[in-house]
Amino acid sequence: MTNIAIITGASRGIGAATAKLAASAGYDVCVNYASNAKAAGLIVDDCKAFDVRAIASKADIANPDDVAKLFAECDAQLGKVTLLVNNAGIVGNASKLIDLRNEDLHATYAINVFGSIYCCREAIKRMARSEGGNGGSIINISSIAAKLGSPNEYIHYASSKAAIETLTIGLSKEVGPEGIRVNCIRAGTVNTEIHATSGNPDRPKMYAGIAPLGRVGEPADIAETIMWLASDKAAFTTGAIIRVSGGV
Ligand code: NAP
Repeated sequence: MTNIAIITGASRGIGAATAKLAASAGYDVCVNYASNAKAAGLIVDDCKAFDVRAIASKADIANPDDVAKLFAECDAQLGKVTLLVNNAGIVGNASKLIDLRNEDLHATYAINVFGSIYCCREAIKRMARSEGGNGGSIINISSIAAKLGSPNEYIHYASSKAAIETLTIGLSKEVGPEGIRVNCIRAGTVNTEIHATSGNPDRPKMYAGIAPLGRVGEPADIAETIMWLASDKAAFTTGAIIRVSGGV
């Protein structure tokens, strides 16, 4: 069976590292992105260097019509998805909840929560045995914020990630009999552009100082756990939420 991965938000950061690692493991890869076509194109080239098929697919996962097109494009160009990594996510601007702007709240939930659920729905239509599929694997990306709560800056983000963890628990039970495993990674601070984008470029340096392992994560640290969860080595693992945080 050909392994075919859709990785949302794969043009940069954790998603990009995961796309390359999936390609190195022999997966054909659909590199989803929101707007950065150039970055997505470079990741596609990196994937193809492993002698697999790879495509870039622009889709705003907050838009269910875009998500339907993303999966249809993958069907047409690569085949039915066997691995979905729900990675695309935003933090929104830092603020106390009293100052939280409606647009930040809406965008954070629309991408992190609604987008992940839209993608799960499309993936299950293709993976579920009762729909003619052969099973598959879904991996959701949460954050240690879901447990820490992120007071004074990102409660809206932290709560959206808690929703992703509950999605993992419920969906793993619902679709286990369909041959689909659903797992989640609760990532610690990782060295990506998300911190500068959300107005907090010094966050990695600050977290490196308090992490028991003395550093923040690199995208490859998270990608390795994602691809382990996707592999047959994790065949008995579903509904798991694995903390990959350097001990934070
Ligand atoms: P990042 O470097 O900011 O990259 C974000 C990626 O998501 C980009 O590829 C971006 O595409 C894409 N994206 C953003 N909005 C999208 C949308 N509406 N539709 C489709 N794609 C969209 O982020 P990251 O740090 O790698 O984070 C990846 C995931 O890990 C997120 O869910 C985040 O919450 C989670 N996480 C990150 C950390 C951390 O410290 N970095 C810690 C815990 C959890 P474009 O390039 O086109 O903009």
